[in-house]
Amino acid sequence: MKFIGAHVSASGGVENAPINAASIGANAFALFTKNQRQWAASPLTEQSISKFREQCIQNNFSLDKILPHDSYLINLGHPEHDALLKSRAAFLDEMQRCELLGLQLLNFHPGSHLNQIPVAQCLSLVAESINETLSKTKGVIAVIENTAGQGSNIGFDFQHLADIIAQVEDKSRVGVCIDTCHAFTAGYDLREEKRYEQVWESFDHIVGFSYLKSIHLNDSKKELGTHVDRHANIGDGFLGMNFFSHFMKDPRFDNIPIILETPDESRWAEEISLLKRLAQG
Ligand SMILES: [Zn+2]
Ligand SMILES: [Zn+2]
Repeated sequence: MKFIGAHVSASGGVENAPINAASIGANAFALFTKNQRQWAASPLTEQSISKFREQCIQNNFSLDKILPHDSYLINLGHPEHDALLKSRAAFLDEMQRCELLGLQLLNFHPGSHLNQIPVAQCLSLVAESINETLSKTKGVIAVIENTAGQGSNIGFDFQHLADIIAQVEDKSRVGVCIDTCHAFTAGYDLREEKRYEQVWESFDHIVGFSYLKSIHLNDSKKELGTHVDRHANIGDGFLGMNFFSHFMKDPRFDNIPIILETPDESRWAEEISLLKRLAQG
């Protein structure tokens, strides 16, 4: 079975996210557990935590189908020491918030080398950051997202993801999220059936499906290999409907959260019902 939702607003409190997700017919969702554009956040209140759990139960969301995303400010591969420590502290706070909410996944972009250190060194810093955070927390999986490779972002190559995982000590608490727009503009052609199969075969070979914890399902406003991160609504971009209909029937993506981050939120309900129909054939 497919679990599909969107990155919904948690404005007014995390407890509003499951309500917003239910209102668009989702059976999975993503959220920020704090303001994603600020470093500091006030702690989650007991009331907010219990209301969040209540709303998840009331709206039939199982906790393993919820994919919190960390702040955009965090760079776990930051080349400068003080900035790296700041990112690590913020990431630890994000993971502790997930622990408090009973969530099992934390999705994040691996980091950027800022043209100051080699890619391999940046990947090692990310792995070190993950190790440090995992050693201070329990039960939450660090879910590394592939990127489009815009600017000096690492993580656009499946091999980058594998190289980070290889250096993580607790393999049971690391995984990946594949964003289809990012994969496409990073150069992985998912449009036509044969290439689609080749891409996922290579993913399985390099990273392994056992590490796949979630999908960000987005179309792309930019062409294959452009390394530009611009999401399009489903069917509106260069990936196109053929890809989505293929993807929704692929059992390798059953039972994990599939999250829309498409730009026009007013179309989420319609997109979710369309994707559910595609899944049924
Ligand atoms: Zn994404
Ligand atoms: Zn993106």
